[in-house]
Amino acid sequence: MWALRRASPALVTAAAAKLHSDRRGRRELSAPSRCESLQAAAQLILRDSVQYAELNGLLYGLKDPGADQSAATQTPVAMLPFCIPEKAFQDCVALSPLWNKLVDAVARDVKWLHATLETVAKADPFTGRLLKISKQIHEEGLRQPLMLGIHRSDYMLHSGAEPRCLQVELNTIASSMGCHAFHVEKLHRFVLGRFQEGAVGRAIRGHYGDLKGDDLTKRLPRNVTLEAIPAALSRAQAVYKAQTKGAKDPVVLFVVNDDGRNFADWCFLEYALWEVHNVRVLKKSLKEVAEKASMDKEGRLWLEEEEVAVSYFRAGYGPEDYPSEVEWSARLLLERSAAVKCPSVDYQLVGAKKVQQALARPGAVERFLGPDSAKLRGCFAGLWGLGPGEDDQAIVKLACEKPEGFVLKPQREGGGHNFYGKDVAVKLKELSPQERSAYILMQRILPGLQESVMTRQGQLKVMECLSEFGFYSVYLGDGRTAHLSAHAGHLVRTKAQGVDEGGVAAGYAVISSPFLTS
Ligand code: ADP
Ligand code: MG
Repeated sequence: MWALRRASPALVTAAAAKLHSDRRGRRELSAPSRCESLQAAAQLILRDSVQYAELNGLLYGLKDPGADQSAATQTPVAMLPFCIPEKAFQDCVALSPLWNKLVDAVARDVKWLHATLETVAKADPFTGRLLKISKQIHEEGLRQPLMLGIHRSDYMLHSGAEPRCLQVELNTIASSMGCHAFHVEKLHRFVLGRFQEGAVGRAIRGHYGDLKGDDLTKRLPRNVTLEAIPAALSRAQAVYKAQTKGAKDPVVLFVVNDDGRNFADWCFLEYALWEVHNVRVLKKSLKEVAEKASMDKEGRLWLEEEEVAVSYFRAGYGPEDYPSEVEWSARLLLERSAAVKCPSVDYQLVGAKKVQQALARPGAVERFLGPDSAKLRGCFAGLWGLGPGEDDQAIVKLACEKPEGFVLKPQREGGGHNFYGKDVAVKLKELSPQERSAYILMQRILPGLQESVMTRQGQLKVMECLSEFGFYSVYLGDGRTAHLSAHAGHLVRTKAQGVDEGGVAAGYAVISSPFLTS
């Protein structure tokens, strides 16, 4: 993606030289374009910014670290925050408790959830397997009704007469990047505060329009991810401890993947749990869980000598995390046990794209939320079910004729699976009606563009970009009592115009932060 609109090194050097000469008060040769001056300013503070990022936890493991397993690079980040109207931002914050309530209500209505996913399960073996686990644990009797949700609702600001946030998706498992987002706020506070003087300051100020003498750092909302998420995990551990006879100092298990490149995004949760809450974390892959974990006759989960109070999944959301039956056996063990799952398989299933689409049907979200539903409906994009029982002929025809207006999505998480533009039509024509049930169609959201400075591997690119805004929320409940329901911070991911997918790890996007405008 870096090949897109790459600015030539000569242009960067010339622009940087111009800024130097401006600073010395020499005559300007010509007025620089905004893009050029931002590029030059960014180049001058690139090293300072990237060093600040790295020394404040914005690290990412190398793909091929060789012998040095500690080798890392910077997390891909934007050097400057991305503008969003304050009202749109606050509106999304206000939706957090509603998403919490909705996920819990849907997960507790197992009949509705299972029926909604029945056809998908036939066409998509991964969803089928999760559904099978859910059915099994309910047939056996749900051993642990307490469930912890760490969700993230992702939106894009759809351009139009009145831009408004439309939901891209709701993540209910491994809602990641919260630690990085916390540290990016810090980075942006540093950049906006520290580099106010001279040509760099003027270029940054110019980038944000005419804000006169305003302190730009005041436009950065505090990001609470690194307080709220560990506090929720700690709360779940405490409630487990209180309800479990003789549980002394149970641990929180982080289920992580083997490659561990995104370690900096979960290690800070681990440190906060230890340093702030005095709760110990063990990190294991599903394979290690299969080898080392067992359940006693009361259903309590043990990792060798340690009792597990909470099982927090940072892996396990896609088929690639289950290369064999060993990993599936680990997942089943965790689900059957009395440990609090974050998420339970039911919470995970509520995050399926099919459920998002089914909730958009008339009357569906109302079934779970009553009068509050209207607030959520305001951010629903167009969503259509496919396959037998969905009466999809008209929408399939339209999507084949005008594919640029749609995104075709399978039941997958983690980026890189959707179809955009003409591929929507190609894929729809390829699929049989049965196969289509594994997918949903979604209205393509069209956000406005802003010039952004993207940094990756110590290099920068200034590009026209769009952003996706994520809002975390945490919820702990047992179906009767809500022990906790709160907004838990935010995430901004920025990607170049023309890039369809959005993952940071996958190399499509960088992490940014919101700059609130009036
Ligand atoms: P995943 O679970 O793989 O993250 P998403 O639904 O979030 O799936 O889609 C991946 C990316 O594709 C998003 O981050 C976003 O950049 C883009 N995308 C998804 N849905 C839409 C949409 N309706 N309109 C525009 N872009 C979308
Ligand atoms: Mg996503």
